[in-house]
Amino acid sequence: MPDAILHADAVSAGYGGGRHPRLVLHEVDLEVLPGQAVGVVGESGSGKSTLAKVLVGQLRAAAGTVTLDGTDLGSLRGAALRAARRRVQLVPQDPYGSLDPRMTVRRALTEAIDPEARRPGKYEGRVAELLRTVALDPEVAGRYPHEFSGGQRQRIAIARALAVEPEVIVADEVTSSLDASVQAEILNLLRDIQSRTGVGMVFITHDLSVANFICSRICVLYLGRVVESGPTDLLFQPDHPYTRLLVDSLPRASGELGDPSASAQEPADPAAPPSGCPFHPRCAARPDDPPARQRCAGERPLLLPRHLPGGDRSTACHFPLVAQADPTTSLNARLPR
Ligand code: SF4
Repeated sequence: MPDAILHADAVSAGYGGGRHPRLVLHEVDLEVLPGQAVGVVGESGSGKSTLAKVLVGQLRAAAGTVTLDGTDLGSLRGAALRAARRRVQLVPQDPYGSLDPRMTVRRALTEAIDPEARRPGKYEGRVAELLRTVALDPEVAGRYPHEFSGGQRQRIAIARALAVEPEVIVADEVTSSLDASVQAEILNLLRDIQSRTGVGMVFITHDLSVANFICSRICVLYLGRVVESGPTDLLFQPDHPYTRLLVDSLPRASGELGDPSASAQEPADPAAPPSGCPFHPRCAARPDDPPARQRCAGERPLLLPRHLPGGDRSTACHFPLVAQADPTTSLNARLPR
């Protein structure tokens, strides 16, 4: 298997408090192989956008490391750090907010290709090529952001990210503000770009079906912790009760909505997570006996690799669902950090 191009190892991060931020992300591991799309899925407050900021260098990790092609980004300074950051590009949720309204598309792309470029026409051929890559007519290069639809602006934001030929793109909820038909177009475009260019992708979304469309692996976050990760098709037979809840709230193939009771429940406050298993106040799957309830409420489960029928995954649960269904499955205990 090739080495990871981007690797987050036990990353914790948060906001405020100077050197001691209030943590909203705890000991997260994530690995992206060259050409692979990895989904990070979770509700609002799960820490997924914080993880995106750490991966692209907008937020410093309070603990743990982010490694790009074997180099610890925390060890780099100045020009070396800026050069490394250009290799991991963010496509944000709101392209309108990230594009300067006073800049034409030509200028925005030229600046992304070469921040020192003084002449807007210097990279005309490359600008045209980038626009064609995102299925826009090069003729639009002279227009301003407000002259485009939301989907077209998202295409321009993707072209801007591609301008520096990054190794990894971090796409943060890129389709969540778009209509369903435009969402599908953008997802198809990203999948196409990924297979043509081999760029690695971290695809951050609250929507498991969106991650399913584009990602070969998925990592599920709950209140800042990874609760389950593994190959995408395996996660649709969930091992963790929270992943089960996400799957149950998806619309059915028949067009019916999923179980509304599942999605209606609110997650806890990420700043004050419950003791023990952070999911325990919402968990419908824990065994209904006092020792089990006590264990779930008092002891935080570790994320453990598990060999299961169909492949390997990691789950943070004292009573994982597949093991409950099939007690012969093995649990491969790993030493706690
Ligand atoms: Fe549910 Fe207990 Fe597993 Fe947490 S550890 S997800 S409360 S069964």
